[in-house]
Amino acid sequence: MERPIAFTPLLGINLKDLEQVFKVAGFEAYDPSRLLVHYYRQRNPEIDLIEVYPKKLRSYLKEKFHTQSLQPLISESSIDGTNKWLFKSVDGNPFETAWIPDQNRQTVCISTQSGCKFGCKFCMTGSLGFKSHLSVFEVLSQVVSIGKSFSHVVFMGMGEPLDNFEVLSRTLEILTAPWGYSLAARNITVSTVGVLPALERLGMEHTCNIAISLHSPFAEQRAEIIPSEKRYPLRDIIRTLEKIPFRRKRRLSLEYLLMKDFNDRYEHAAALGALIKHLPAHINIIPYNFIPGKPYRAPDPQDAENFRQVLNSYGLRATIRKSRGYDISAACGMMAGRTTLSHELLNKPVLKF
Ligand code: SAH
Ligand code: SF4
Repeated sequence: MERPIAFTPLLGINLKDLEQVFKVAGFEAYDPSRLLVHYYRQRNPEIDLIEVYPKKLRSYLKEKFHTQSLQPLISESSIDGTNKWLFKSVDGNPFETAWIPDQNRQTVCISTQSGCKFGCKFCMTGSLGFKSHLSVFEVLSQVVSIGKSFSHVVFMGMGEPLDNFEVLSRTLEILTAPWGYSLAARNITVSTVGVLPALERLGMEHTCNIAISLHSPFAEQRAEIIPSEKRYPLRDIIRTLEKIPFRRKRRLSLEYLLMKDFNDRYEHAAALGALIKHLPAHINIIPYNFIPGKPYRAPDPQDAENFRQVLNSYGLRATIRKSRGYDISAACGMMAGRTTLSHELLNKPVLKF
């Protein structure tokens, strides 16, 4: 029997990895999915309670894996019921998670990176620059450590999920697998600025909802606020979306950040309508959340409503998103972690043994 070589987190392991672990250690007669169902779906960290496994297998697993998740450093609550948590990655970088309760759903909004490389001009995370990619362990810790039940998961926190594709892909697998958290893929949404060819892989290899941050129908104007437009132009993003099967309840959303006197005119709405009317898309109009120091402003509510009606006239479904968690900087685009962590927070233990 091979001796365990490393003490690794079980959180983040998929069935294929675990089959290999069992095989190498000579336990192929036992079903590895029992451990994953026990740990992920039944949320039980006690490996000893899996009685169908012999004692020597349980001891082996306990030596090889720990069943902890990363713990948040601090939490904040908004007057609207939204909560936000600050985490510190294993290598010491800050990232945040929000939990947004609504009438009949609770949504966890998670981060895939500390900071972001993409540098969109309107976004607070973008202003922070890139610190590090998060691991599957760090991404999944956000859904399990906040101590809240949830029905939906959105990848709309810090970072660009498609820039950390392998981690995103495995996280989606664990969230949706029958041996994992068994969450319906239609209850998960990945928001992206459009990274190619990762977008195509997401569309073909997974069945979660996709949200594209569009923000202007004009390439030149989009490039002004989203630098990656030059490398991944909207026309190529749309061509990729045309290939992706959006069947049954799988949803394509196009996010349109509405900014006063910038992209909120009739000609924007009309050009947007003409550009995307052939797509099976729902348009989410996001009124800009004002960020001090940035030149953009929130739109007038009436302009937002007019914008929505122009899109409707193209036969498109469009809604105006209600901002949540603004007072604790948990709203869209406001997550920036604490740029520097205090000495006390940096030294706070994040794993409990
Ligand atoms: N990187 C991904 C996901 C994180 S951002 C993406 O860009 O899609 C999630 C959403 O918040 C994006 O649509 C983004 O454009 C939007 N956003 C960024 N800054 C914002 C702000 N100040 N007000 C409102 N939405 C903002
Ligand atoms: Fe990154 Fe998205 Fe913010 Fe752009 S909007 S900087 S891609 S997190």
